[in-house]
Amino acid sequence: MNSCDKCGNPNIIIKKKQSGQKLCKDCFIKSTQNKVIKDIRKYKLIKKGDKILLGLSGGKDSVMLLDILNSLRKRNIIDIIAVTIDEGIHGYREEGVEIAVRNAKKLGVEHRVVKFKDYFGITLDEIIAKNTLKDGRRNACTYCGVFRRWIFNKVAREEGATKIATGHNLDDETQSIVMSYLEGNIHNLTRIGPKSEIKNKKFTIKIKPLREIPEKEIGLYVIAKELEVHFAGCPYAIESFRGEIKDFIKQLSNEHPTIMYSTLRGFDKIKTILKKEFSNKSIVMECEKCGEPSAAQLCKVCSFLESWKK
Ligand code: SF4
Ligand code: ZN
Repeated sequence: MNSCDKCGNPNIIIKKKQSGQKLCKDCFIKSTQNKVIKDIRKYKLIKKGDKILLGLSGGKDSVMLLDILNSLRKRNIIDIIAVTIDEGIHGYREEGVEIAVRNAKKLGVEHRVVKFKDYFGITLDEIIAKNTLKDGRRNACTYCGVFRRWIFNKVAREEGATKIATGHNLDDETQSIVMSYLEGNIHNLTRIGPKSEIKNKKFTIKIKPLREIPEKEIGLYVIAKELEVHFAGCPYAIESFRGEIKDFIKQLSNEHPTIMYSTLRGFDKIKTILKKEFSNKSIVMECEKCGEPSAAQLCKVCSFLESWKK
C-alpha cells in the first residue's frame, strides 16, 4: 500500500531504496531527527554542558545540523556558537554567508563570521591565483581544508567550545573512505570516524552527527522543513579528486542502494585494527610561529604563508 509505514498518511514523500520504508513528511522529519539524536548517544558525541562550535556554511548539511542541535540547546543540554568561515571565494561565498546569518538569527543562536583575509591576510581566490601555475598539484580544496581546520581550532579555543560539530554526511564519509583506500593513504583512513581523538590539549574534539544520513535525505529534510539553504556549489569543487569519487559512488548507488552503508559499516569494523597498526605516532608539538598544534616546527598554514613570502 502506498501510505506512510508509521502513521498511514497517504501522502508519502520518501520511499527509502535501502529499506523500502515509506514515510510521510512529518514522520520523515521525526525519524531523521531521532536517528541523529540516537547516533549522538550511540557514539557519545555530545554530553550535557558541552559548548558546540557548529560550522555553519549555510549549505543544507550545516543548516540541518543547526536545526537538530538547536533542539538540544532549547532543552538547555548544550550551548551553541555557530561559526561561518568566509574563505573569500568571489561570487559564491557571499550568498552562503547571508543565508547562514539569517538561519542563526532566526533561531537566536550566537553566530560569528570569520574570514581567511582577517586571519591570514589572503583570500582563497588570491591563494589560487598565486599558486596554480607554480604548483599545479595542489588544488583549492587542499589549501581550503588546511586553512579552515586551523581557523576552527583557533576559534573553538577563543570561544571556549568543547566540541566542533560539522555537517559531514554519509556520502562525504563514504567518499573519504574510498578516496583514502584508492590513494593508499592508510594514515588518513585511521582518522575517519564520528569523533576525533584529542592528541594535544590545544585540539578541540570534532564530531560528525550526520555521518549516517545520506545527502539525499538531508536535501529532503531541508525542503520538508522549509529551511533556507545555500544550494549553489563551490566553483573549485569540480577540480577535486573527491568530485570524481562522488560521481563514481553515486553511479554505483543507483544499482546498489545500500553500498554507502555497507562501505561505512565494513570500514567501522576494521577501524580499531587499522588505528592500532597505522596511527601516526608522531609527537604533536606547537608551531613555533602561530602556536597551533603541528606535526613539524611550522604548521602547514605557516609553512604555506612563509613559502609565499619568498
Ligand atoms: Fe573549499 Fe573545496 Fe569546499 Fe570549495 S569545495 S569550499 S575550495 S573545500
Ligand atoms: Zn603555525
